[in-house]
Amino acid sequence: MSASDGSPNSSQCHPVDGRHRPMPYTVGTLGAQSAPLTAIAESPLLAALPLAEQARLCPELEVISLALGDVVYESGEHLEYVYFPTSCVASLVYTTASGVTAEMGLVGNEGVVGIAIFMGGKTVPNRAVVLIAGGALRMKASVARREFERGGPFQHVLLHYTQAFFTQISQTAVCSRLHFVEQRLCRWILLCHDRLQSDELQMTQESISHMLSARRQSVTVAAGHLQDAGLIQYARGHIKILDRAGLEKAVCECYHVVKTECDRLMGFRGACI
Ligand SMILES: [Zn+2]
Repeated sequence: MSASDGSPNSSQCHPVDGRHRPMPYTVGTLGAQSAPLTAIAESPLLAALPLAEQARLCPELEVISLALGDVVYESGEHLEYVYFPTSCVASLVYTTASGVTAEMGLVGNEGVVGIAIFMGGKTVPNRAVVLIAGGALRMKASVARREFERGGPFQHVLLHYTQAFFTQISQTAVCSRLHFVEQRLCRWILLCHDRLQSDELQMTQESISHMLSARRQSVTVAAGHLQDAGLIQYARGHIKILDRAGLEKAVCECYHVVKTECDRLMGFRGACI
């Protein structure tokens, strides 16, 4: 099977309209354990840590809110924080010199944004943009690095997540190269749905085409097919999931490959990808 379109060279994508904003505001209290402890429960990755470890890390975590389009980090800049989404979803994207943007992976509450900090690289050539507004916990880079180097459960879950995320990125590359836009759209909807508390997604058509590295017209046609099949309701970027099981049958193998691997590595949540 080959993709009908959507190769990076043929896409008509443009840079995501992300931009620097003032630092996200803190809605929790720095150093107060009660609010972060509650928030930790919303991050399966952190909640997987032993309670004593959670309590120890609490003072190092800030509860923040991120808005749609916030740039979590910019390409090439030194990362100041590691982010653990609790209800927001971030998209890692790369923009070529010619201005074409493609998504590399999605991070929701199963994961962490800022892998380069604890892996030692400090910067990355891609950017992270908030795709779905919501909450997150953040930890200073210096603290995250220190905690990672302590070893133990924190290092363990971060390494396992990193391997799972590598699988997601690798499979995204395979999917973009080999599978039809309709299948890729199914995969992307399922990825988002796994990270949301809702059956509805609000996204501009342009954003969806960026994420899929596909032309807007192709996305519209693919969404129309999924709608005709009764799997979703679609109108101008508003997607309502009507038949999750049907989407799982229609999606390409990439979704299941990554889900299986992530469940194996993380094991704390069935929907983790
Ligand atoms: Zn695929």
